Amino acid sequence: MSNMDIGIDLGTANIIITMGNKMIANEPSVVAFDTKKQEVIAVGKDAYKMLGRTPKHIIVRKPLEDGVISDHELTMMMIREFVQKASRNLMIKPQIIICVPSAVTGVENRAVVDAALSAGARKVYLIKEPIAAILGAGIDIDKADGSMVIDIGGGTCDVAVVSFNGIVDSSTLKMAGNKFDAAIIKYFVNRDKILIGEKMAEEAKMTIGCVFNPNPDNTMIVKGRHLIEGLPRGVQVSEVEMCEALLPCAMEIVAQVKAIFEKTPPELVGDILSSGIIMTGGGAMLGGFAELITHHLKCPCKVAENPLECVALGAAKAFEVADSLLDGFEKISVYKHK
Ligand code: ADP
Ligand code: MG
Repeated sequence: MSNMDIGIDLGTANIIITMGNKMIANEPSVVAFDTKKQEVIAVGKDAYKMLGRTPKHIIVRKPLEDGVISDHELTMMMIREFVQKASRNLMIKPQIIICVPSAVTGVENRAVVDAALSAGARKVYLIKEPIAAILGAGIDIDKADGSMVIDIGGGTCDVAVVSFNGIVDSSTLKMAGNKFDAAIIKYFVNRDKILIGEKMAEEAKMTIGCVFNPNPDNTMIVKGRHLIEGLPRGVQVSEVEMCEALLPCAMEIVAQVKAIFEKTPPELVGDILSSGIIMTGGGAMLGGFAELITHHLKCPCKVAENPLECVALGAAKAFEVADSLLDGFEKISVYKHK
């Protein structure tokens, strides 16, 4: 692997970019577009700051919000901008490996590849998220042993069983970070008639979000607007209440994992039972999630070391194992372009 090669995790919430095995950017997947000038004016952190604060002719969007490309043009512009930023000072054109959300279609994959090529990549590869996640979690996927990975991002939860460098089975559910936030918002509307903002809900989720064995002593104040009085109001909430709000969402994911288990060949189930399930993605950091899965599925489950960066690190690593990933196995999840 050349240390100029670029890995991109095109997440629905965050874009993470690596060069060699160093992370060079970690920014929200947001783009700001000026409709008068017809050009991108900001991406990532700079665009995120503009959300909800711009004049009418400037559009600020998260173009991949639900794990699918909801705004094609803006997504491509965002990719071009990020690739140009990352490769600006390079003497030679870099090779790029991109991990796209699993629900993205073949045609869109092609467009992602073209966007990266037009931004100056020498060669572009795509890698499927579960393969990247498993590589990033430090699992040796050359071995026949099956592994299971659950990646919970902003828009989707992807469960996959991987063996011999290929995906044996996988499923995608639109139940992830954004839906957890929405469940928290709904909880306060119902309980206190208070409407809290998305950022407040996400903060509460990260601070005291819990789906297993909640501690009633862990509390925080959330602030919002009272729906009847119309005035600002703060209320105290504990882990126990968060668990009440979030458990139904988490149980949908437990059911998804169970369904995959039911379809997995018994030999591989045995492997997974001994090696344990690995969780990646920001949503895996929700308090007690791994324990909840262990409890209901009677199979050990743990969160990877860097759950947020796993996929990007795995994409970077994929260059090292590109030979074994690129040829051979039928269900191989990387395809070579040109
Ligand atoms: P994507 O791959 O879709 O870009 P990420 O893997 O970057 O998603 O995860 C982003 C999601 O993880 C967001 O919904 C964010 O709120 C959530 N998240 C980040 N940190 C935590 C945390 N400590 N607890 C719960 N959720 C978290
Ligand atoms: Mg992701």
